[in-house]
Amino acid sequence: MNVLVLNAGSSSLKFQVIATDPERIRQDTDERLCRGAMERIGGEAIVTVETRNGHRQKLTAPIKDISAGLDYLLRWLVSEQSGFDEIRNLGDIQAVGHRVVHGGEVFQESVLIDEKVLAGIEECIDLAPLHNPVNLRGIKAVRDLIGRDTPQVAVFDTAFHTTIPEQAYLYAVPYHLYRRHKIRRYGFHGTSHRYVAYRYRRLKDIEREQTNVVTMHLGNGCSCTAIRGGKSVDTSMGMTPLEGLVMGTRSGDLDPAILSLIAVKEGMSLDGVETMLLTQSGLLGISGLTNDMRVLQEELKEHDDRRVRLAIEIFSYRARKYIGAMLAATGGSDAIIFTGGIGENSPDIRARICRGLEWAGVELDAERNAQTRGTPAEIGVAGAKLPVWVIPTDEELLIARDTVRCVMGLPHPA
Ligand code: ADP
Repeated sequence: MNVLVLNAGSSSLKFQVIATDPERIRQDTDERLCRGAMERIGGEAIVTVETRNGHRQKLTAPIKDISAGLDYLLRWLVSEQSGFDEIRNLGDIQAVGHRVVHGGEVFQESVLIDEKVLAGIEECIDLAPLHNPVNLRGIKAVRDLIGRDTPQVAVFDTAFHTTIPEQAYLYAVPYHLYRRHKIRRYGFHGTSHRYVAYRYRRLKDIEREQTNVVTMHLGNGCSCTAIRGGKSVDTSMGMTPLEGLVMGTRSGDLDPAILSLIAVKEGMSLDGVETMLLTQSGLLGISGLTNDMRVLQEELKEHDDRRVRLAIEIFSYRARKYIGAMLAATGGSDAIIFTGGIGENSPDIRARICRGLEWAGVELDAERNAQTRGTPAEIGVAGAKLPVWVIPTDEELLIARDTVRCVMGLPHPA
């Protein structure tokens, strides 16, 4: 089955086509036919695509919205230009899987999209006003462009975390706020945490129930999850993706009283303060330079800038502190797993985070840590009490697999 996997953002669209079916899932031999991204939708968009044989194309086109973006993508997929034989017409795309950000308490696993599901995703708009409307537009645009007969599946960022117990998901605010407005921790990056936990247990040849790990997704957004018996039992992101770790432009945790103080002192609205915490804070806010960790690391090496160093230190310290919290939440863990752009690619940040976790049994092997790239690897010294792993994430693969399972009516464990 050729599955088109879509991840629609406010001005971007990431996509992949993955050929998979129950047999390929069992044998772990799914095949990625192409991957790509469309940036700057709303103006002259830049489209980058890479096909299976490593052939890369970069195109530009005026694309006014997500619907026009999908139209462009589908035309490209069936054209000679795309350069692969599997898709000659739209009928060769047998299903479409969408990353949907917020599934609230309604969606505990991936689902085949029908009118009821669309209404459910719409109900969650209050919880994710920036993201869910874009996801809905993507789903509706595909339906208009390919037709209602092609099944579509929604895979929620929150679903993996619906196993978190009450004591971890409730905030200590008046309880009626939960009842009235569903104010609670939901957690995000669920598909990524779920994927790396799945990959870890395949590598270790253990059952899901035996999987006790702490997973660190460190990218532009960052979150940390405690997984016990294969299930998420706590996570650092909260009601929205603003809570928890220091991120590229997001502050993560802070004293909530600071919001009104900033509003008064800086003459800002509360909305304005929230936007600042989302877009002007984190690595960018502290360094005053950039949200891009790679650039910060180069800058530190070349100029040893004080605020750049501070940004990296605060980022790493917060991550370490959260590992401690998640080890307590799981009651001890069998491994720590790093993933995401920073987690997969920065030996320095991994080392900074792990320094000071010796008490927990963490001891990195400097060479293994430095050499790991692109494939799953253990980076601790042989025999360390608490092993540390790097496992590249692959959310799209899980979305494609969930899509197949939903379409075929099969149960969908990771
Ligand atoms: P997103 O959360 O948007 O998917 P990614 O997971 O791609 O983002 O992570 C982006 C982050 O990863 C950026 O801060 C980028 O600088 C960082 N990154 C990528 N490669 C490296 C590297 N080699 N060293 C340090 N940071 C890196």
